[in-house]
Amino acid sequence: MIMHLLRKLLVRGAAKSPSLRQWSGSSTRLYINASFPFLLSRPRLPMLLSSRTYEAEHLVNKLPKLQKIRTLEVSGIDKDHPARKTSPSVKITGVAMSHKTGMLEVSWKEGKTDIFPYVWLRDNCLCPACFHAASNSRIHPIKDLDLSTQPQTLQVLEEGKQLEIVWTDGHRAVYPAAWLYSHAFNETQRLAQARKFRLNRSYWGAELLKNLPQASFHELLIDDSALLSWLQQLEIMGFVLVTGAPAEPGQVRRLAERVAFIKKTHYGEEFTVKAKSDPSNVAYLSGTLQLHADLPYYEYKPGVQFIHCVVQYEGTGGESLLADAVHVAHQLKTLYPEKYSILTQTPVDWFDKGVDELGEFYKILQIPMIW
Ligand SMILES: [Zn+2]
Repeated sequence: MIMHLLRKLLVRGAAKSPSLRQWSGSSTRLYINASFPFLLSRPRLPMLLSSRTYEAEHLVNKLPKLQKIRTLEVSGIDKDHPARKTSPSVKITGVAMSHKTGMLEVSWKEGKTDIFPYVWLRDNCLCPACFHAASNSRIHPIKDLDLSTQPQTLQVLEEGKQLEIVWTDGHRAVYPAAWLYSHAFNETQRLAQARKFRLNRSYWGAELLKNLPQASFHELLIDDSALLSWLQQLEIMGFVLVTGAPAEPGQVRRLAERVAFIKKTHYGEEFTVKAKSDPSNVAYLSGTLQLHADLPYYEYKPGVQFIHCVVQYEGTGGESLLADAVHVAHQLKTLYPEKYSILTQTPVDWFDKGVDELGEFYKILQIPMIW
């Protein structure tokens, strides 16, 4: 989970002390309950290239063979999904029982075979007495499942489009061939199922600066297809630079509420990051803010963070830092497995204590650095 969270390591600030003034009185952070982090910003993110700032860049450049970011082809994802392509033509050509193994072997028209455990088939009966289709939920009590159940009779129906099983207790189940095919236990279908609701993520290093994922604030508010592309990019890349937001507070809420509800923390639903004289958080200091992950002491961490820089500091410094920590963790695992193991197994304290606009708080969580 922390690995997931670490992906949004994100820092505002820069190398010189007055840098945080760029956020004075106007920057807004908020969190929404979505699946991946991104950055909404109007600052000069291209300044990531600035030579003296980037620990993120420095970090990944030191590691060899960065994964190349693949070209985003978000529009073709669903169309090419294997389960969608194969479903209409799937036909069963034969079935065979093996009481010895407790498995049913199904042969497909294309020549392949798959095996299904009896007990799994019985448990996944799709009839109205066993399964409530509208809520996509099993309704027969699991305690009543007979682990030694066996098919009594088998019949292929509708020219191979369906399989009927009458179980030893007399219960009749009918399975669509396409459903069986897409739920088979082979590697291809397992992968297809895994991809059904999740896009393949790209991991990135400093080379991302050549092709930053971007979206137009105005388009996101009025165009659903632009909104979908943005959300897909967000899932694939972990962040998207949104440009063109009006330079005034309240804009992040407009965008967040296009897609989700805002998750409240002890800082509220949204809050302003600015330099304070007696700060309870390092974000309120006027100096450099190094790479970090926000809110790691929450068990239920925010999935997406919105940051809007309303007023960019005009002097030197004030650049934004961003690193793909999951990418770093993957490389750490490969290059330094023992250190990776320590970081994934040693609990450390994550805490936040102080007073903010919503009152007093003391949060603590003990989990490993990479979780
Ligand atoms: Zn049933």
